Amino acid sequence: MRKLTAKIHSFESFATLDGPGTRFAIFFQGCPYRCAYCHNPDTQVFAGGTEYTVDEIVAKAVRFKPYFRHGGGVTLSGGEPLAQAEFIAALEAKLKEHDISCAIDTSGAMPLGSIVRAALDGCDMLILDIKMPDEDRYRKYIGGGLDTVLATLDYAIARGKRIWLRTVIVPDINDSETAIDEYIDLLGDRLKSVEKYELLAFHTLGFDKYVKAGIANPLENTAALDKDALSRLQSYLDTAIKDIIA
Ligand code: SF4
Repeated sequence: MRKLTAKIHSFESFATLDGPGTRFAIFFQGCPYRCAYCHNPDTQVFAGGTEYTVDEIVAKAVRFKPYFRHGGGVTLSGGEPLAQAEFIAALEAKLKEHDISCAIDTSGAMPLGSIVRAALDGCDMLILDIKMPDEDRYRKYIGGGLDTVLATLDYAIARGKRIWLRTVIVPDINDSETAIDEYIDLLGDRLKSVEKYELLAFHTLGFDKYVKAGIANPLENTAALDKDALSRLQSYLDTAIKDIIA
């Protein structure tokens, strides 16, 4: 039988930002998007990373199981984890045997073929980036369309998954209350199925990764988003959706 392997960029052992509780985060190598604000451009190319089998990753996750308190577990992130969906579906099945819960942290870039659906079926939770509030800005700043993103969200809603949404706020691109209103309009009734919608600040900490990887940085002249601006927009969003979200 063919041995299933995945290309992994890196692991993070006590991750606290990628889902509830303490988590073991696995960053898959390769991503079809080219977000202008990507904080991890070294995860973008599919050529690279280190190959692991399902059993090798499960063995790592099992070692961390005692720390998965407060709803913790494994988070599959990237790069784009669903670009290696067959591996993910197999990994989730094995993690379930060990009673370890699994979140998929995705940009929703992948079309919903049967393998991607199987990977989504196997997760306990979806963490989905809603990167831009309209098709034009998706095409311009992300390098893909909104259709797969919304289809991923709709599928997770239909399957009754726990859902968190995230949006990176970038100065002069989506850092306004008008843009927040546009996200809310875009999501509409879907917000009723969302547990949490978090805004994240564009920062410049990953800029040296562009230099190291020899990749042009489209936002090299953009400053990090101010903390106060982020909390103002998060409050605006929270107030606007407080009676809507799950
Ligand atoms: S989806 Fe994530 S990894 Fe891919 S280009 Fe965008 S920010 Fe980078």
